[in-house]
Amino acid sequence: MKEMNYDIAVCGGGVAGVAAALASARRGMKTVLIEKTILPGGLATSGLVLVYLPLCNKRGTQMIYGISEELLLISNKYGPCDLDPDWKKNGRYVVDFSPGSLVLAMDELLEEAGVEIWLDSIITDCEVENDRLTGISVFNKSGTVKVKAKTFVDATGDADLLFLAGKPCNYSENSMVLWTIEHNEHAKSGHDFDDCSHLAIHADPLANPYTCENLSGWMVSDFVLEGRRRYRNLLKKEAAEGISNRKTHYPLTLQTQPPIRKGRCIQGLFTMDTGMESQSFEDSVGVLGDWRSEKVWQIPYRSLLPRDLKGVIAAGRCISAIGDAWEATRVIPVAAMTGEVAGIAATLAVRKDATPHELPYPELAEELRKTGILLEYPC
Ligand SMILES: Cc1cc2nc3c(=O)[nH]c(=O)nc-3n(C[C@H](O)[C@H](O)[C@H](O)COP(=O)(O)OP(=O)(O)OC[C@H]3O[C@@H](n4cnc5c(N)ncnc54)[C@H](O)[C@@H]3O)c2cc1C
Repeated sequence: MKEMNYDIAVCGGGVAGVAAALASARRGMKTVLIEKTILPGGLATSGLVLVYLPLCNKRGTQMIYGISEELLLISNKYGPCDLDPDWKKNGRYVVDFSPGSLVLAMDELLEEAGVEIWLDSIITDCEVENDRLTGISVFNKSGTVKVKAKTFVDATGDADLLFLAGKPCNYSENSMVLWTIEHNEHAKSGHDFDDCSHLAIHADPLANPYTCENLSGWMVSDFVLEGRRRYRNLLKKEAAEGISNRKTHYPLTLQTQPPIRKGRCIQGLFTMDTGMESQSFEDSVGVLGDWRSEKVWQIPYRSLLPRDLKGVIAAGRCISAIGDAWEATRVIPVAAMTGEVAGIAATLAVRKDATPHELPYPELAEELRKTGILLEYPC
C-alpha cells in the first residue's frame, strides 16, 4: 500500500477542519486536509446551513476572533451580500452567506496557506500503536493510501477517527430537519440573499416529530430519505391545495451532507455538560456566547483531547460535550474556533516532538493569546 507522510493530517474538511488546516499550514507544518466530498465547509456548505451564527454574546460583545472571524468575513467574498463596516445584524455579529461563495473563498485560503487538499477521499481505517494513533487508511480513486502523520486532527463531525480506532464515543438523538435552496415564489425565508435571487430555505418539512439516536450507516440513510420523502409530500400537498405548482415552487439544490446536528463525539479527558455555562477552567482555550440565550461558555483544552487515544485532537462538533454544552458548541463559529485551537495545539506538539496530550498548557495559552483568541470571559 502506498504510504505518505505529513506533520499534521486534518481529517474532515468542514469549517473545523478548514480552520485547523489553515492554522497549522500557516505555521509551516506540512499539512494534509482529507475530505470525503469535493467541497470544503461540511454542513456549512454541502449541508446548506448558510447562517454564520454569532461571534458575540447576546449583548453584542464579540467573544470569538481569529480564523472563525476570518471565515465569516470572507463568506460573501464571491457574493452576494455586503457586510457593513459595522456588520452587526440585529445587535449580533452574525451573517448569512451563499454556500458556493464560501466554498470558493475557502479553497482560495487553503491554497494560499499551502495546505495539501485531498478531495473525494474517505478515511476508512485507523492504525493504533500503544494507544497512539499513528496512521490512517484513505480510499480514493487511486485506491487505498496509508497516511502517516505526527499528529491527527479529528474534524470529521462524528469522531470517525475515534470510532474507527475502536474507542468509546458519546451519542445524541436528532430531530428531523431538511434544508433546501429552492425557488418559491410565495415564500420568503428572511435570509439576506433572498432579495437578490428569490431563493428560500425550507426547514422541517411537515414538521412531525421524528427523532433518531445511535448514529449508524443505516440510520443516516433512513434519516435522509425520510426528510426527502416529507419534502416531496409537502410539494404534492401544496400543489393539491393550489398553493403552488411545479413552476412556482421547486427545489434548486438539496443537502449533500446528512443534516445531523449531534451524531457522535469523542469521550474526552473532560466532558462539557449542561449547567457548566459561566464556569472558568484553568485550561481554557476559548469562550463563546450561546447562540440561543444569554449564556456564555468556556471551552477547556481537555475537551478536545480523547481520553483513550493519543496523537489525535478533536475539533468542531465532535469535541467532548453533551447536553446543553453540545448544543452551544456545535455551531459554525465555535467549530471554526476549536478547529483553529486544534491546529495550533497540533503544531506546537509537533515542534516539541510530543503529542497534544503532552503539550504544556501555558505554551498553548500564550500562542492562542498571540492570535487574538479570548481565553477569559470579556467584562
Ligand atoms: C440542519 C442543521 C442546521 C444547522 N443550522 C446552523 C446554523 O444556522 N448556524 C450555525 O452556525 N450552525 C448550524 N448548524 C451546525 C453547523 O452547521 C455544524 O455543526 C458545523 O458546521 C460543524 O462543523 P464541523 O466542521 O465540526 O463538522 P461538519 O460540517 O460535519 O464537517 C465534517 C467534515 O468531515 C467530512 N468527513 C466525515 N467523515 C469523513 C471521513 N470518514 N473521511 C473523510 N472526510 C470525512 C465530512 O464530509 C465533512 O465535510 C446546523 C446543523 C444542522 C445539521
